[in-house]
Amino acid sequence: MQDRDVTIIGAGITGIMAANTLRKEGIKDIHVIEKSKSVGGRLATRRIENGKADHGAQFFTVRTSTLQEYADAWVEKGWVKHWFGDPYPRYTSVDGMNHLVKRLSENIQVTLQAKVMDIKEVPGGFQVTLDNEESFKTGAILITAPVPQAVELLQNQTLTLNVERIKELSNIQFQRALVGMFTMSKSTSLPSNGHVDKGLPEGVERIVDHHKKGISSIPVVSVYMRGEWSDHNFLHQDELTLRAIKESVMDYIEPLHVKDEQLKKWRYAQASSMINQSYVNVHQVLPLYVAGDAFLRPTDQAGRTRFESAFLSGIDVGNQLATMMKGI
Ligand SMILES: Cc1cc2nc3c(=O)[nH]c(=O)nc-3n(C[C@H](O)[C@H](O)[C@H](O)COP(=O)(O)OP(=O)(O)OC[C@H]3O[C@@H](n4cnc5c(N)ncnc54)[C@H](O)[C@@H]3O)c2cc1C
Repeated sequence: MQDRDVTIIGAGITGIMAANTLRKEGIKDIHVIEKSKSVGGRLATRRIENGKADHGAQFFTVRTSTLQEYADAWVEKGWVKHWFGDPYPRYTSVDGMNHLVKRLSENIQVTLQAKVMDIKEVPGGFQVTLDNEESFKTGAILITAPVPQAVELLQNQTLTLNVERIKELSNIQFQRALVGMFTMSKSTSLPSNGHVDKGLPEGVERIVDHHKKGISSIPVVSVYMRGEWSDHNFLHQDELTLRAIKESVMDYIEPLHVKDEQLKKWRYAQASSMINQSYVNVHQVLPLYVAGDAFLRPTDQAGRTRFESAFLSGIDVGNQLATMMKGI
């Protein structure tokens, strides 16, 4: 693989916004490496029969003028729509959350199904090794994997790391999330927008009917379980977990109408504590940045990990890297 100026690890919204920002600032030699089959990360949409289900983020909210400007432009282009919520709109992608990231990554070079296994310090930068044993040199690195996975990647003894920063990152814990996806033979009794997050049984956080949401030609329902429930049931057999989810939501989806069921297990869904900075450089001298949804701007009003925190973190670290590279 060719040597690169900047390598971005992870093609979620943070990595893709960082790459777009670098490009906008005139830095072109960027390479994004993604271990999955698709870009998007936790903005995930699954095809089920001829339907679709979002099983990561369902929507995004907007608290900053930066994201508002993008959201307005995306609405104008027909990429996203105002789903529900007044006066705080919930925006969603018209064809699944994953598709929004696909659209945003159209001009970005992404290598899919390549997992970064090791980062080593070498003269003038870093050597990155992938799971297929290929390796290449790069001047700067941005890691956008969920923080515990980022910390794991920083274990190589050759790296001259900022010990305090690593300690801070090591304290960031992520909650798990279990999401059941049910394909129904009949329409559900969910409200016309297809979304419920109030008055639900214990352990259930949210239920979404994607036909009513407008992204699926058939009724596919995602049931999101709360963090504590998910932690408790994470290692159980999928079949038992799906049965328990179905039993909890019987008042919303009729078990006899379930044609197909699938489970998504998120080991890293959202951070329980955050860093009050949009990104950090974990190296004592060289550009080795970590960014992502757990990195909040000091002015952040929501105080939690979400689409918007990841989006802003990507833009801020992209600007920082561009400034640094132009100064070299
Ligand atoms: C179940 C669930 C529901 C959610 N609901 C909402 C919601 O309704 N609204 C909202 O605003 N937010 C929601 N979120 C949070 C939102 O999805 C995230 O905050 C945001 O998508 C994080 O983006 P990111 O780019 O920082 O991280 P990610 O999307 O996790 O991207 C990181 C990427 O790095 C890749 N990667 C990791 N390690 C490596 C490696 N070694 N080599 C190569 N690639 C690697 C991963 O495969 C991944 O694609 C939800 C999240 C989950 C899990």
